[in-house]
Amino acid sequence: MLNVTTYPLGAPIQIIANIPLMQQEADRLRKAGKRIVLVPTMGFLHEGHVSLMRLGRKEGDHLVVSIFVNPTQFGPAEDFEAYPRDFDRDCEMAESAGVDTVFVPELHALYGNGYQTYIFLERLPLYLCGRSRPDHFRGVASVVAKLLNIVKPHMAVFGEKDRQQLIIVRRMVEDLNFGVKIVGAPIVREHDGLAMSSRNSYLSKEERSSATVLFQVLQAAQKLVEQGERNSGRVIKTASELVLSRPHTKIDYISICDPATLEDVDQIDKEALMALAVYVGKTRLIDNAILQSVS
Ligand code: AMP
Repeated sequence: MLNVTTYPLGAPIQIIANIPLMQQEADRLRKAGKRIVLVPTMGFLHEGHVSLMRLGRKEGDHLVVSIFVNPTQFGPAEDFEAYPRDFDRDCEMAESAGVDTVFVPELHALYGNGYQTYIFLERLPLYLCGRSRPDHFRGVASVVAKLLNIVKPHMAVFGEKDRQQLIIVRRMVEDLNFGVKIVGAPIVREHDGLAMSSRNSYLSKEERSSATVLFQVLQAAQKLVEQGERNSGRVIKTASELVLSRPHTKIDYISICDPATLEDVDQIDKEALMALAVYVGKTRLIDNAILQSVS
């Protein structure tokens, strides 16, 4: 079939770069009654991505992983050019995770000459990562909308690692009647608790050691809440001190907020979302957890 290659030669995984061809393939699958599941990624795959694929594999008949480093979600001073890429390795990992199709659109095909359409959400992008990355979620929402229109999945899987992204995608899909089920998958961590991320590859040995503080902060906060602390300000203060006690760290934000609206909460009642972004050296890392108060 035109423009469809296999990797490695003869293996069952198909690689599609062409947008109309991906749309035709999606139409063909839907007509045949197949349930399509999409896992959108920026590549440089790790076990976090693989867990999403496994979940998708169970839920669908045809599993598509998209690999696209999306320039519109990077700020001008961010790491778009430097973002790690390893397409061959990604294809091998996708294949062992049972992926049927890797969709790898070209930049100029996705954003052609004269491109000017973006999706804007009024409130959710104002909080957490959106404060220091003002256009990030405009880029995320727009590229996810485009991928949904091209791959036409019945279901798409997103990681809770990027919880604000997951919440924004859910909101957009509901508000714009996309008719696709959005599923969230738990955060996959290294043995010492660091959330897996393609950006962890930027860290030096010393920075890697400091990076564990993000998860430690979330654990410490949960412990404080279990001991009866309800005041968000005090929990954030303890968390900040812990982060700054490690070399090479700089706090972007630490927030305790409502898990639905992302607005800051002063008191931790029932469930609250704690989210943080910390620079370790030049690398910006994020993590989050739902704080559960027992009483
Ligand atoms: P990315 O390639 O970083 O854009 O991530 C693609 C998808 O994988 C997003 O839905 C992420 O939330 C998810 N993801 C990335 N890292 C993890 C992780 N450690 N655990 C679970 N999901 C993850």
